[in-house]
Amino acid sequence: MQCDTVRKGINCSFMKNIGCSFNKGRCLPIIENCVGCTRTVTFEDTVYCLVAADPAAKWKRGDCNFATHLEKKKIEESQKINPLKASKRAAAARK
Ligand code: SF4
Repeated sequence: MQCDTVRKGINCSFMKNIGCSFNKGRCLPIIENCVGCTRTVTFEDTVYCLVAADPAAKWKRGDCNFATHLEKKKIEESQKINPLKASKRAAAARK
């Protein structure tokens, strides 16, 4: 159902016929970790998340799984050289 409280016009599963059913009756603004994410939207000078009503909860147990600004960092980390494999390769090259 479309929101008519904070993120007006956006479909939200918390919106019911009687109003917003989320915890406090409205979405919470993004937190510092969300800055740079493309899943944000600004309503009345406040930035909200498009997928999470409580962005802070998405970061409680590590990185937010919907964050778009972390993908680049993860790709860079996966390209790091495994020191054990590098050692084996170097030993094989010496033979
Ligand atoms: S998707 Fe995650 S990182 Fe992006 S704004 Fe929402 S809570 Fe923040």
